[in-house]
Amino acid sequence: MKKLIRGIIQFHETKRQGYEDTFSKLALGQKPDALFIACSDSRVAVNVFASTDPGDLFVVRNVGNLVPPFGNPGGTGTAAAVDFAVDKLAVSDIIVCGHSDCGAMHAHCQGQDALPEGSIKRWLEMGAGPEAKGMDVNEASRRNVTVQLEHLKGYPAVGRAMRERGLGLHGLWFDIRHLEVLYYEGTGKWTVLDGKDGERVLKSLDQKK
Ligand SMILES: [Zn+2]
Repeated sequence: MKKLIRGIIQFHETKRQGYEDTFSKLALGQKPDALFIACSDSRVAVNVFASTDPGDLFVVRNVGNLVPPFGNPGGTGTAAAVDFAVDKLAVSDIIVCGHSDCGAMHAHCQGQDALPEGSIKRWLEMGAGPEAKGMDVNEASRRNVTVQLEHLKGYPAVGRAMRERGLGLHGLWFDIRHLEVLYYEGTGKWTVLDGKDGERVLKSLDQKK
């Protein structure tokens, strides 16, 4: 807590002025481009690896970057964020972002039956599925992203926005050790977003619009 308070004091004394223009505009309201659903893991620093600015993303973070299947009574917090982002904020895209060495996915790989009864076990039942047992943790984590993208399609608001205004659904995966971000191109294909393939992915998104 002391580190946090020192950081706030430092911001107040040295950095605040540099943000005054940005936040005076943001104070009038938010218009984020995307809903970003990521794991709560402290290392998933989207503002660092995606160079995002304040106001760019409406963010939901939970253990394992899960999107509970529509109507699941255990997932109303995340479901409310999805509905709010799609219906009220009219975001253009939804991104589910997994990451390497994910604790939630370690639990999946060991088999959920190995977990003690409780909130974590009940929550992770909405994750990568029983097939993840025995999988490599990073493979399970990427599979989990694709499972969550399928859950999103079950939300009536999401389906409607996809049909009516081209809402895009995307999977990302952050490799902490190698400081790289992968993009899900479908049918099991993950691509590193670098200068070459990242530009190709950008062009393919332009064509979809
Ligand atoms: Zn995680």
